[in-house]
Amino acid sequence: MHELSLCHAIAGVVRPHAADREVTVIHVRIGALRQVIPETLAFCWELVAAQEGFDGARLEIDPVPASVTCASCSVTSDLESRYSISCPACGSCEVSVVGGEEFLITSIDVRAVSPSAVSPSAATTPERG
Ligand SMILES: [Zn+2]
Repeated sequence: MHELSLCHAIAGVVRPHAADREVTVIHVRIGALRQVIPETLAFCWELVAAQEGFDGARLEIDPVPASVTCASCSVTSDLESRYSISCPACGSCEVSVVGGEEFLITSIDVRAVSPSAVSPSAATTPERG
């Protein structure tokens, strides 16, 4: 599964950045031409996150539309359909893809773990019996 290997790649990139901190959110930018299904990616991430020790970290997907620059009219526009790569302005097929192939982790949110502040303050519970 395509999405599963992407998730392993994400985990591999995030790990050294996270160090010992708890990752809460991973922001990924994904181009439309990557043909990633966000729901599938999120599902696969849960599996990978559990395996790789990123429990509690969720993916925040930032979709990027596919865009092309036209050789005929020089207009750069977003593609409305992923199935036809032609210039939406003039219909020419002489276009070069300038966006939509992104797959990058833009940032991660972490929660700093400070060892001295781990234990809850409710240290003594009075027992009545
Ligand atoms: Zn055009």
